[in-house]
Amino acid sequence: MSCDNFDFDIDATASDAERINAIAGHYREIIKLIGEDPSREGLLKTPMRAAKAMWFATQGYRQSPKEILRQAIFGYAGSRMIVVKDIEFYSFCEHHILPFFGTISIGYIPDGAMVGLSKLPRLVNAVARKLQVQERLTAEVCREVAETLSVKGVIAFCSARHMCIQMRGVEKQMSSTDTIDYLGDFESNHALRQEFLAMIGK
Ligand SMILES: [Zn+2]
Repeated sequence: MSCDNFDFDIDATASDAERINAIAGHYREIIKLIGEDPSREGLLKTPMRAAKAMWFATQGYRQSPKEILRQAIFGYAGSRMIVVKDIEFYSFCEHHILPFFGTISIGYIPDGAMVGLSKLPRLVNAVARKLQVQERLTAEVCREVAETLSVKGVIAFCSARHMCIQMRGVEKQMSSTDTIDYLGDFESNHALRQEFLAMIGK
């Protein structure tokens, strides 16, 4: 494939552009293999559009959760729980490369520092936008906060719908999956976990 009239609406370097071109070439093959004609008019630009969409949706491979959090850490003397609720995310299940998406709520108990609130949604984005499973996404969010920020404890509750369940297989159309993970004070303190769940309305 050539790089001619490669019009980028996403942030990509020259070597990224080569990789996106290669992905588009593979999409073209997939379109053929499923029995379609990639040269019919409606599909002419589809491989490149799909490649760019995939590149965007997997931007987590090119981001550092720790760097995102470190951009806005402030000294803070408070010791009560801080909760950011219902952060939307979009991810791909690593077993079927089909979307799963939902919300994740994060609570932490500061230990001398807090993080700018807009950084937690960006952290979730970086952890979610790659091939993932919901359980690991929930655990990674906790671990990144615990490793980067000074906290006494961190907890995350995730609720998601999986297209690999809804579009295929058992077709339990409206089911959703909940996962929870926690570290530090939340591990030993049941009341603290209850307080968090009450704050997010669970
Ligand atoms: Zn799946």
